[in-house]
Amino acid sequence: MESLKSAVAAALLMTSAILFASPSSLTAEELTAEQVEEGQRFVVNNAIFILFHEAGHMLVSEFNLPVLGREEDAVDALSSVLLLGAEDEDLYTTMQDAADGWFLLDEAKEDGPQEDDFMGTHGLDRQRAYSIVCMMTGANAEFFDEFADSLEFPEDRREECLFEYAKARDSWMSLLADNMKDGAKTKFEVTYEPAGNEDLQGFADLLKGAGALEAVATVFEDGYNLKDGIKITGKTCGTENAFWYEGDREITYCYEMAAFHATLIANWFENQTAGEEQPAGEDVADETSEEETEATSVKLKRKE
Ligand SMILES: [Zn+2]
Repeated sequence: MESLKSAVAAALLMTSAILFASPSSLTAEELTAEQVEEGQRFVVNNAIFILFHEAGHMLVSEFNLPVLGREEDAVDALSSVLLLGAEDEDLYTTMQDAADGWFLLDEAKEDGPQEDDFMGTHGLDRQRAYSIVCMMTGANAEFFDEFADSLEFPEDRREECLFEYAKARDSWMSLLADNMKDGAKTKFEVTYEPAGNEDLQGFADLLKGAGALEAVATVFEDGYNLKDGIKITGKTCGTENAFWYEGDREITYCYEMAAFHATLIANWFENQTAGEEQPAGEDVADETSEEETEATSVKLKRKE
């Protein structure tokens, strides 16, 4: 656990350090420089959470791990445990951005969840967000106190989450322990394919500059009984998604996903600005104020 911790922290500290020197790929002219920087961080942090989620699928298939319950929930928990277990404030920010990512995704669906969503392999977006919040408060109740307050996440739920986080961490760690060996080394093949169009290339450059794909390789290249040659590929896929392909032994992160997260956050910034510009004293319809409450329930924490 200790080496896992420091590997995650080291890989991801590198990520956040480089992030701020990255070329701008959020180019909406109405955003401030600060918002662009915050937006880039949001995009990279959501990519990291999703990449670790896919790495969870990788571990399940490479080690043939038993999964009791829904695999999608199990690997979300793994991603949370890895990022939170590093006990690093930058990675805590990664988790907040990931939770916000699922909240924004939920709010972007105007008609709410459809029948298909209930039938799907994943929990509903809002459930995924709250599950992540549960892992966060379970791992460090004090640090995430304000964040949880901003969501009105109930105290009794936070109590339960202490146990749920510990259970998720211990279950994953004991499963992984059987597949770890001191001195084991694995070679990963990290590739950022050319995006093939200018807009998506901006996101490819952002992720590459931040070392997002490398972060996964760095965490799993030491100490795991994994065979060489697992590929971690960034590419244009034609869909906003990420995958683990068991046969090809490949994690794929689609640049469209980064573009999608950029749109979510840019819209959120714009809604915030639109809210601020509302002239004082003007009759604000109920509907508008409801929307405002909804929008501000997503708390984006600035990096100190
Ligand atoms: Zn998945």
